[in-house]
Amino acid sequence: MRILRAGRLGMCFGVRDAVALAFEHADAGPLTILGDLVHNPTILSALEAKGIAVAQDVAEVKTPTLMVTAHGTSARTLARTRALGLTVVEATCPLVHVAHRAVAALARDGYHVVVVGQRDHVEVRGLTGDLDRFDVVLEDDDVLALEEHPRFGVAAQTTQAVEKVRHLVDLIRRRFPQSDVRFIDTVCKPTKERQSAAVEMACLADVVIVVGGRSSNNTRELVKTCARYCARVHHVQTDTDVRPEWFDAAEVVGLTAGTSTPDDVIDRVEERIRQAGARTRSVAGVAP
Ligand code: SF4
Repeated sequence: MRILRAGRLGMCFGVRDAVALAFEHADAGPLTILGDLVHNPTILSALEAKGIAVAQDVAEVKTPTLMVTAHGTSARTLARTRALGLTVVEATCPLVHVAHRAVAALARDGYHVVVVGQRDHVEVRGLTGDLDRFDVVLEDDDVLALEEHPRFGVAAQTTQAVEKVRHLVDLIRRRFPQSDVRFIDTVCKPTKERQSAAVEMACLADVVIVVGGRSSNNTRELVKTCARYCARVHHVQTDTDVRPEWFDAAEVVGLTAGTSTPDDVIDRVEERIRQAGARTRSVAGVAP
């Protein structure tokens, strides 16, 4: 059995920098992170062990310093936070800032903003938090439920699969042929690279393992993408989730991981797959 790693996989620079910033500020004094810094249980446990608090709302913060996650937040939330006298550390990824600027430009130019993404995701709440009117779409049905506007300005959550985003933009154009539909592609480069590398890998694999947090959007998108090219796809959070029976009769096992998955977690999963392969080989060796 051969293990085939996707050409690009795992943690992106935005998450890596945000995690480093959190540890750096935790050394300097008590820190609360607003929401999950990353959707990865291993990193979240390490942050907790360091005494870093997590709050889901500004009102719950009990430390003088608050960190905004790589997912970013709205200017309104930042203003509210500063008005409470809190010091704000911004770990917002530069590519999330790009998406914020795109949404602001669309709104400023008179477009009705539509964000392709998950309505309740923290990044989408940040992208739309300064708008009074907007829509969020994720499926065809959401587009069918849109009201007509003369001008639609479409942007995307940075971790959406770009093919899906383009499909929904086309659908908006077909549904509202009279409207001016402007699309700014805000899916980030690391997400696109991991998606295309995952497709190449999944086409060659008998089984695919995707490593990442259960609530990580880009990990779930990788799972869906790989499932289009490989029938046996499994999503694991850590090596302990890996089941040896998944690899029965598999010659090539593909491996990829979401943008918040640390390298050591991926390495341990790879090792576990290798051990499972040894088991498969030895079972095959004694078979009649
Ligand atoms: S997934 Fe993209 S936007 Fe999000 S932190 Fe990573 S590089 Fe930045």
